[in-house]
Amino acid sequence: MTIDVERHRDHLEKVLANLGEGEWILWTKDSVEGWAESVNLPQRGAFIPAMAVRASDGRRIVVIRRLLTDDIRDGVLGGFLIRGRGDQKELEEPVPFLEHLVLHEVAHHVLDTKDDDACDAWAFEKMAARRGNA
Ligand SMILES: [Zn+2]
Repeated sequence: MTIDVERHRDHLEKVLANLGEGEWILWTKDSVEGWAESVNLPQRGAFIPAMAVRASDGRRIVVIRRLLTDDIRDGVLGGFLIRGRGDQKELEEPVPFLEHLVLHEVAHHVLDTKDDDACDAWAFEKMAARRGNA
């Protein structure tokens, strides 16, 4: 089932605000790659679910595709298998899926790395901390 990210905006903004990693702004776009092209940012391909950027004025922004279809979600979940993180059953639910997606993109900036595995680990840590397990 397609996720409409705007329906989860309040929750995601709370997650970002409670991270302790400064101020983050959440933007939803019909197409993340289309938005990136419009501001001359390098592309990573088509149907990009989300990316985090630092604007020229210093604002930090998570740009997320407004409508996340099953195909896009399957692509993200397949990435965990490829990276050896196995089946992430929990992330089949919309809210944890979105939390992890947003936190993963933020992690690229906080950790200053392109290492997806490190970003996955950071995102899972933050999710566990939110639930009081860490
Ligand atoms: Zn990544």
